[in-house]
Amino acid sequence: MHSISVVVPMYNEEANVRPLYEAVTRVLKKMGRKYEIVVANDGSTDATLPRLKELAHKDSHFHVVSLSRRFGQTQAFQAGIDAAQGDIIVTMDGDLQNDPEDIPALVDMLEKGRYGVVSGWRYERKDPFAKRFFSKLQTGMMRKLTGVDIHDSVCALKAYRADALKSVRLYGEMHRYIPALIASKGYSVGEMKVRHHARRFGKTKYGARRLFKGFLDLLYVKFWTDFSTRPLHAFGSIGVGMAALGTLIAAYKVLIQKLLFGVPLDVGPLLLLSVMLILLGFQIVIFGFLAEIIIRIYYQSSKERTYTIAE
Ligand code: UDP
Ligand code: MG
Repeated sequence: MHSISVVVPMYNEEANVRPLYEAVTRVLKKMGRKYEIVVANDGSTDATLPRLKELAHKDSHFHVVSLSRRFGQTQAFQAGIDAAQGDIIVTMDGDLQNDPEDIPALVDMLEKGRYGVVSGWRYERKDPFAKRFFSKLQTGMMRKLTGVDIHDSVCALKAYRADALKSVRLYGEMHRYIPALIASKGYSVGEMKVRHHARRFGKTKYGARRLFKGFLDLLYVKFWTDFSTRPLHAFGSIGVGMAALGTLIAAYKVLIQKLLFGVPLDVGPLLLLSVMLILLGFQIVIFGFLAEIIIRIYYQSSKERTYTIAE
């Protein structure tokens, strides 16, 4: 039987430490497997850390990683994931908006379905309209851009095979797009309806600014999953396209207008445009070569492989 690690990020959640610990422990005990709970304290400034430590002291299933300052939810997740030892990693928020009672079913689906990840879908979400709207928008864009077909990528409650989750690194605010990253490694992505509750203690740590950053992260995920092993294809096609267009314009000006119809060659906007397109196009192609060199250095100096082995 697979062992389970539940990973939870916490920033100033003092009132949630105990209720979360009790609720998650109750569920995991019932499952009767080897388990641990790893809470990553994201530089909290309230009593979160002492309360976590107190629990870790009493219960050997309960572990705390404490970051030196607030690095953000994504980095807190990554720290917890790095510390987790289970074969299956379940991630969830620390404010009990996700329901620990959903964990057994998530794990069951993950194991039976040979998925890399089973993502929670908060089909009856207890959040303000604006939040629901923007998170739908984000998931929708992710679906369009990456083709990963789930309804609620933003939901933190997810169950992963540890090897799948540990095959990706998280930057920026991109824990929301882990399913897309994992899918690009060839793992399949499943989805399950989960419960969702309104926040009972403490308050939300996020405002609207997160949305814009989240969008940039999505672009990065798209670029990385499509072109990380062959950036020249991305830069090359744009660059060659521009240079070709510039050459066409120049050919039209010189060959057709001047040689065929005898129109004198003026340095007008069209010719300027053509020269710019050609020069920029070449530059972008050269950028592509540079990116190729950088990516080779990256793969050689990191543990990350350009492929994933299934068996
Ligand atoms: N969180 C964190 N670091 C941050 C912001 C949030 O570790 O910089 C944690 C927070 O303590 C909670 C989870 O991430 O456990 C989700 O945050 P929140 O509930 O504020 O987000 P919301 O549910 O409002 O989207
Ligand atoms: Mg919340």
